[in-house]
Amino acid sequence: MLTIRDLAWTAGFLEGEATFRLRVNTNRATGRSGGTNEISVPQNERAPLDRLRLLYGGNITARPERRQRHHISKPSYVWTLSGIAARGLMMTLYPLIANPAKLAQIRTALDQWRTRPGTGIRNRAKTACPKGHPYDTLILLKGGKQTRRCRQCYNASMRAFMARRRGSA
Ligand SMILES: [Zn+2]
Repeated sequence: MLTIRDLAWTAGFLEGEATFRLRVNTNRATGRSGGTNEISVPQNERAPLDRLRLLYGGNITARPERRQRHHISKPSYVWTLSGIAARGLMMTLYPLIANPAKLAQIRTALDQWRTRPGTGIRNRAKTACPKGHPYDTLILLKGGKQTRRCRQCYNASMRAFMARRRGSA
């Protein structure tokens, strides 16, 4: 199952190494474009990417070693997570990440997803948390399930959790 320790490790690793974005794709047959959220992490070592795949799913692709003039570059790997799983992980990690550039990447990726073409015709049942904030955040649960939370209450509860954790360390 996913623990706070897994999340803290993931936040620390991804805020250094990951790219968060909306990958835009166009259907060649219809000409309509859509987009999917994507998290990608390039890495020379495979081990941390295996850990990410174990925790969150996704795919690892290998880039073979390249022979260059003076040396042979080591093979490298890229872990990629896309779609609703990527969106959920972005929202889950948001309050745990400190790097302002990565926070901006996540905000942009999620905003672009919300305003992507075709969004207006989606039927969105809006409900609210007990305090009346709209549910606007997907949270990962164990087993890959997701639940909806409001961003305000979720961020406040995670910050309080991390503060207690630091206080007791
Ligand atoms: Zn709330």
